[in-house]
Amino acid sequence: MPTRDEILTELGLVPTWRRRARAGADAAPEAPRPAEPAAAPARACAVSEDAESRAARIGRLEWRDFAGDVDACTACGLAQSRKKSVPGVGDVHAEWLLVGEAPGSEEDAKGEPFVGQAGKLLDNMLAALDMKRGENVYIANVLKCRPPNNRTPEPREVDACRPYLDRQIALIAPKLIVALGKSAATTLLGVDATIASLRGRVHRYQGVPLVVTYHPAYLLRNLPEKAKAWEDLLFARRTLRGAAVVDTVPGQN
Ligand code: URA
Repeated sequence: MPTRDEILTELGLVPTWRRRARAGADAAPEAPRPAEPAAAPARACAVSEDAESRAARIGRLEWRDFAGDVDACTACGLAQSRKKSVPGVGDVHAEWLLVGEAPGSEEDAKGEPFVGQAGKLLDNMLAALDMKRGENVYIANVLKCRPPNNRTPEPREVDACRPYLDRQIALIAPKLIVALGKSAATTLLGVDATIASLRGRVHRYQGVPLVVTYHPAYLLRNLPEKAKAWEDLLFARRTLRGAAVVDTVPGQN
């Protein structure tokens, strides 16, 4: 298990972003809560199902049927080219929900989000916050299937997959959503804006406070931005603890 200093060194945050001890600021992490048992077998989407009844049906899914339903989904066509569906992973009672764009090739092969290099960085950033994938954190993507060659998700794919993310949010009832990268942020917030203009403020999605940060894959290519991402995660934690100055953006859901 790497030490905090090793993690911060890996993130390129030493010494600038070394965490300072502050009395009462770092409560002991909650005891790990077990993840829900594996999902039940796949249930095929009815071919004739219209978008409205499909969304309503997905909106009633329970965890036991969730992954199977995602796996059987053919609504946008990405199921034809992907290897495995990637419904999401983690603590189904998590306070933190991290949302990325879509699975890449390693995620597609494994069926789990953020397992490649970007995922390793994400895990290190969580560890620097004394957090861990699967413990009070759930990780999902806007799209549950990999777009060919990692191309940007198309709006119709996002629309088709959104009921799944919305159902995850309803089931998990997170206290905070962290949108990882421009694609997830702009999709969830319904705006066309840069990460730079969206970060550092509390937005909302489905009534849940949402903060925005850079995508870990972007950070791997732009190392100096890691310090900003670290700032964003600290801001996210203050928001979750109710300690951030909440600058809710008017007019956003
Ligand atoms: N990028 C994402 O947005 N999600 C993943 O799961 C992996 C890479």
